Amino acid sequence: MKKSEFTEHWNKVLQQLSNKIDNTKFNTFFRPLTPVKVSEKDGILYFSTVNSSKIFQNSIDRYETEWKPLVEAEFGKPYTISVVEKNSLEEDENPDEPILNEDKRLNPYYTFDTFVTGANNQLAVAASVSVADGYSKDFNPLFLYGGSGLGKTHLMQAIGQYVLKNHPKKKVLYVTSETFTNEIVTALQSNTYQVHQKMQKIKDKYRNVDYLLLDDVQFIAGKDRTEEELFNTFDELYNAGKQIVFTSDKAPKDLGGIPDRLISRFQWGITVDIQPPDYETRMAILKNKAAMNDLEITPELLEVLDIIAQNIQSNIRELEGAFTRVLAHSKLTDKVITKDFAKNVLSEVFNTKTKELTPSYIKETVAKYFGVRISDMESQKRARSIAYPRQIAIYLIRTKTKYSLPNIGDCFGGRDHTTILHSYEKISEEIKTNQELRNTIENIERMLTD
Ligand code: ADP
Ligand code: MG
Repeated sequence: MKKSEFTEHWNKVLQQLSNKIDNTKFNTFFRPLTPVKVSEKDGILYFSTVNSSKIFQNSIDRYETEWKPLVEAEFGKPYTISVVEKNSLEEDENPDEPILNEDKRLNPYYTFDTFVTGANNQLAVAASVSVADGYSKDFNPLFLYGGSGLGKTHLMQAIGQYVLKNHPKKKVLYVTSETFTNEIVTALQSNTYQVHQKMQKIKDKYRNVDYLLLDDVQFIAGKDRTEEELFNTFDELYNAGKQIVFTSDKAPKDLGGIPDRLISRFQWGITVDIQPPDYETRMAILKNKAAMNDLEITPELLEVLDIIAQNIQSNIRELEGAFTRVLAHSKLTDKVITKDFAKNVLSEVFNTKTKELTPSYIKETVAKYFGVRISDMESQKRARSIAYPRQIAIYLIRTKTKYSLPNIGDCFGGRDHTTILHSYEKISEEIKTNQELRNTIENIERMLTD
């Protein structure tokens, strides 16, 4: 079976499979698989991933009942699936492979599907999708900038993968500015005759694409020949109506050491910044990660995510890192992830305050104050001796944490958000006229911060 046939059959399997499996998991575990080869003798379909083939293999095995019949129907034989790491199998040379990526292929996780949109990056996402969907002079070049770990590379690669998937005839070249620079340096180091030839090769490569995605362009500052090559490449691509996308850690005007004529070109199209994510976006990213790891979003887990989201605010790479760390430790030690467990593991990552205002800490304190059980506050019991502390706890959580109404509902046995809002409003109203309630709340607040 030729690779193209393999790919074709597989795409049909994917189409049907997408209706059978939860979207996130499908996009995470099945979509990124790259068909490599078929061993008809052994009855194995080989796929590659950029890394962590084990994670993929586990998930493939877990969903065997879903894909197996589809594969058999489509391939006419009950194949098994084997996921291997990119370099462990020789890939067939495919001359018209549109993917021209440098050193590594695009990271299969870095798609629009897995990118969480928040107020901090909404514009950047919209501009990226728009650019991926088709050329518009107004958006050329697209210049994305922002601090480290905020998703610039992710978005840029998402553009690339989107184009490759939806406009497979387009040529996409993703490259880091470091690689671009190194190629030029290497070419210039060769002997006189070869310099010309090698530089020509670089020109052919970079000027022959529909999408040039140049990551971390701040890196070229002060590198004259690279700047010059980029300048010429830019003009050639731009005049030919080809899309160029840059990322950078600074806005064009703040990039020192880059010639003005290049800076001004960076600003010909659209410049969009990515800001650090707000709390809700951080929580959404963490929840997404949890779902990808097949974790059930329990109130307990939400608290763990909350601790991470409260403490790591300006770098999503670190946010993910902290979560991965907790997860890895819990797998290693076979312990359930709890707040204390997470704090322990993460104590090296951040100086966890001993008492954070998390929902469980507030619940605990309110329960102590009134002498009721936390489990009773979480239950459906309606006796005033329990309902009243519950309402106060809800009020305090609403005012002191960034939990949304539905999240608070989850902390109280899955109550509806309207119920939560009702409790909150009731206490807010009552506080205005009831001195005793005001005292109570003040006392609890003191306990919380002591
Ligand atoms: P940058 O290039 O800006 O330094 P990256 O694109 O490498 O940042 O992002 C760092 C990590 O954070 C990556 O694993 C990326 O997938 C993740 N990430 C960043 N922003 C988001 C987001 N909005 N949604 C989901 N994951 C994100
Ligand atoms: Mg990056």
